[in-house]
Formats: sequence, structure tokens, C-alpha cells
Amino acid sequence: MRYAMAMDTKKCVGCADCVVACQTENNVPEGYCRDWIVENVDGTYPLLDLEIRSERCNHCEDTPCVRTCPTGASHVIEGGIVKVTHEECIGCGACIESCPYDARYFHPDGYVDKCTFCDHRVEAGDTTACVSVCPTEALTFGDLDDSESPITKLLKTRKWKVNAEEAGTKPQVYFLT
Ligand code: SF4
Ligand code: SF4
Repeated sequence: MRYAMAMDTKKCVGCADCVVACQTENNVPEGYCRDWIVENVDGTYPLLDLEIRSERCNHCEDTPCVRTCPTGASHVIEGGIVKVTHEECIGCGACIESCPYDARYFHPDGYVDKCTFCDHRVEAGDTTACVSVCPTEALTFGDLDDSESPITKLLKTRKWKVNAEEAGTKPQVYFLT
């Protein structure tokens, strides 16, 4: 099992329904978020190209956030999902410092929090909250070890990129271009 997400930059309209769904599903406090919208403009006027992306923790295969955590609160579970055990987090911020993607935040209750790929929903056979609400079906979640899964097929047939590949963390969120 190797969970991953594909984010279609040709379909995302930046509505932020994914952000709101995540906040609601995961009780994210007001003013914080586990996923967010990035808008990039490339080119020179009048030939401008706008790319909109819904971003979150990349659930990297090589995890500096886990390596630097002094208590083991940051860890990897089945399927490669990277999680934080809130009760074991001392709020030192080492994981936040080591993450090249700024994917973690300090929860006001004193621990670090981030995207979990909605593992509680996935365990129950459902998909992530963000995927379930996206009105343009820009987000696809699935198992890359399953050759028949929609995400595996998408990554075989579409061009894609990952964020900050040079960081060497082997991110598992793929942006279809
Ligand atoms: S819900 Fe879908 S279209 Fe809207 S911002 Fe998120 S990924 Fe983009
Ligand atoms: S994106 Fe950051 S927090 Fe998420 S697994 Fe990678 S290094 Fe860790």
C-alpha cells in the first residue's frame, strides 16, 4: 500500500471547498488550515499562464519531519501516511523547521498538526474529505501499488510534477500539468 494524491492543475478553480471541508472534518481551529490554495502566474504580459493548486502535506517517502522529531510523535503509518501523535508532541517545532513545504502548524492547544490524508476516513473505506467535495474532481486519492487505481492510471497517462523535488523528500502529492 502506497497512498498518494494527484492534484489536477488544469481542473482546480481555487474555490477552496477542499480547505473548508478539511477544516470541518478535522476540527481545524479557525484561522488555521491543513490544506491551502496557491496561485502562480507565469510568463509576461499579455501571455500569462495562471496555475492554481490545492496543497497539503506531501506525505513524503523520505521524511525530515519524522527524523528530527525528538519524541517519536511524528511517525509514518501503513500506506506511507505521515502523522503526529498529539499527546506525544512537545511543541518544539523541529518538524516545522525541517519541512521544506511549510505543511505543519502549531495548534493553539500546544502541539503540531498537519494533513493526515484523512486516514480515519480511508480506514473506513472512504476517501479524503477534500477529494469528496471538490466540485471539479481536481483531486484524486489512492494506492500507487494498485495498478488499476485511478491515481496510478492518471500518473501513467498525464504529465506531472512534484513540489520542491530538489529537497529530496520524494513527495507523494503529484501535480498534473
Ligand atoms: S475544491 Fe477542488 S477546485 Fe476547489 S480549490 Fe480545492 S482542488 Fe481546487
Ligand atoms: S511535506 Fe513536510 S510534514 Fe509532510 S511528510 Fe513531507 S517533510 Fe513531513
